[in-house]
Amino acid sequence: MITRLQKNARFARIANRIPILRNFVGSKLFEGVSWPGEKTAAMVISFDVDYAEDEAMMPELMESLRKFGFRASVACIGKWMEIRPAAYEFLRADDVEIVNHSYSHPNHDLIDDTRKFSSISRAEMIDEVKRCHEIAVQVAGKPPDVFRAPHFLWTREMFEALKDAGYLFSSSGFYSEEAPAFSLPRIVDGVLEIPLYRRCGTYHTLRKGGTDETGWLALVRSALDIELSRGGVAVFYFDPMDFSGRLTLFEEFLSGVDKDRLWVTTLGGLCRHLST
Ligand SMILES: [Zn+2]
Repeated sequence: MITRLQKNARFARIANRIPILRNFVGSKLFEGVSWPGEKTAAMVISFDVDYAEDEAMMPELMESLRKFGFRASVACIGKWMEIRPAAYEFLRADDVEIVNHSYSHPNHDLIDDTRKFSSISRAEMIDEVKRCHEIAVQVAGKPPDVFRAPHFLWTREMFEALKDAGYLFSSSGFYSEEAPAFSLPRIVDGVLEIPLYRRCGTYHTLRKGGTDETGWLALVRSALDIELSRGGVAVFYFDPMDFSGRLTLFEEFLSGVDKDRLWVTTLGGLCRHLST
């Protein structure tokens, strides 16, 4: 399906410059893309575990997901897994995918806030990816095959570094709300890049007060409605700590997911399917 994705992305780029065609972009984005089980659209739930408060929430969040038969992709930092392996036991379950989130998460206030991932050298990027990978294999008992850039600070150099480190899948900061190609997975310098729904993230909404719980539910539901209408994929990313005291809200969201029409998968599952 890779050539189809590339063809659709080209159409989206051109159509977006032509006002009369712009309205058709959404309906054409996923033309020729099909989902397993003849589902209408796909969904991925991912978490970024950046702090101990995030680690503490993961077992409960996985329990909630299991009630509904859903899986999750979890971006983890190598250094934290190395220091606190017990907090990452949850990764060993079959329904959890570990996503490589770099070794030291450059610009992390508790690890190293002197560097940014987007400004370190290619050799340093490769080292960040490889070190996290090795620790992930030890702690989670399985190798990650998807990368997520710290703070979503990706650069073109990053895609070269990922290939050098053996990674062909990434979900690092293309946003599903943005023209020209919205949620359509892209091929960037040979790496499959999966966009995500930025506005549905919990940081700017639930934590920082961008919207209340009702508003957040409306946001995630509208993202699913959009993808169901275009046969696309909704990839969400949440910070686990934002569901502390809000598990009911998380389950309310999960209970509303239309399992009959949505293929609920992981980032890796999505990438492998699209690579066929
Ligand atoms: Zn992070």
